[in-house]
Amino acid sequence: MSAPQAPVQRADFDQVMVPNYAPAAFIPVRGAGSRVWDQSGRELIDFAGGIAVNVLGHAHPALVSALTEQANKLWHVSNVFTNEPALRLAHKLVDATFAERAFFCNSGAEANEAAFKLARRVAHDRFGPEKHEIIATVNSFHGRTLFTVSVGGQPKYSDGFGPKITGISHVPYNDLEALKAQISDKTCAVVIEPIQGESGVVPADVAYLQGARELCNQHNALLIFDEVQTGVGRTGELFAYQHYGVTPDILSSAKSLGGGFPIGAMLTTEALAKHLAVGTHGTTYGGNPLACAVANAVLDVVNTPEVLAGVKAKHQKFKARLEQIGEKYGLFTQVRGVGLLIGCVLSDAWKGKAKDVFNAAEKEGLMVLQAGPDVVRFAPSLVVEDADIDEGLDRFERAAATLTQA
Ligand SMILES: *Cc1c(COP(=O)(O)O)cnc(C)c1O
Repeated sequence: MSAPQAPVQRADFDQVMVPNYAPAAFIPVRGAGSRVWDQSGRELIDFAGGIAVNVLGHAHPALVSALTEQANKLWHVSNVFTNEPALRLAHKLVDATFAERAFFCNSGAEANEAAFKLARRVAHDRFGPEKHEIIATVNSFHGRTLFTVSVGGQPKYSDGFGPKITGISHVPYNDLEALKAQISDKTCAVVIEPIQGESGVVPADVAYLQGARELCNQHNALLIFDEVQTGVGRTGELFAYQHYGVTPDILSSAKSLGGGFPIGAMLTTEALAKHLAVGTHGTTYGGNPLACAVANAVLDVVNTPEVLAGVKAKHQKFKARLEQIGEKYGLFTQVRGVGLLIGCVLSDAWKGKAKDVFNAAEKEGLMVLQAGPDVVRFAPSLVVEDADIDEGLDRFERAAATLTQA
């Protein structure tokens, strides 16, 4: 039996938490599938998915049982020892992708940190210290560590923390000529999100990713795909690179990989992986048995033809209805994205007001996301039931009606 717990409410956040977040006014306490209940017992439909994390919704029986089974067996041993769930998970990822080796960590930022360090290490070993430049894209997002905000390059995330990591440049997204002009024999890696998630759900063009692949080959640079948001079924393929048919040298994964349990992974080839020899990189928790047991269960469910085909079907359902709502209320001009990563681009009249849409949806009992100030983002569970999609979009339409009539 656990000890009785002191009551807490939203106001406590401002008393005891570092104020780097501004959470909503209600506190979720329980979830099942695509529904969430708050402290007062109010029920909400969840189209936010914990920012593209709760890939199988809340309290999915397969994940609950994987976690509780492992919780009764072994929680942690450190990387001084390996463990069965980590090895099983690595096998699964290697079998399902281009990769031959996996490195586990605890977040997307750490997966990218490992990817960037590996790319620099490979170039250093093969070509010497001059070849260390990383090319990223404008408005990209790769996490919040100092290296990853430097690579992301957005001043709002990277300014004011002292000197940044140097040797990084930024070129406009989806602009092959700009990349061609920037890449050189000093470039060690090009990093691209196959769909820019945080800054507006902007899918790459196939020709752009193909061209980037060719430019990297010509300049002995590695192509890194940041699939932290696009990976693990989100696009209707296990990873977005498979959707595009362009294979990276290094891929980072996190978010959906753990379905809500923290885990990240960097995937790569054997020839590259060997540059991270014993002692060159590490993490205490990375590859933790609890996280890996859950991620194994996530992959077992997600990487099936039924679930992946379902993502494509549900995309159509969302898109058709959202386009209708957007047009009827003059709220947005475009519905874009792939699979169940969908962005509604606000019309001129509503530009900058994604937060208002978020608030209006919440009042109707619906959780959505922003992707910057101009885009409303949907990243629901991949197994969200059709009835929940209909009910959630009814709520969204009521929010749109109220908002545009006010
Ligand atoms: C969320 C995200 C990250 C950062 O992941 P964290 O787990 O928050 O560190 C990195 N890259 C992309 C594309 C993301 O969407």
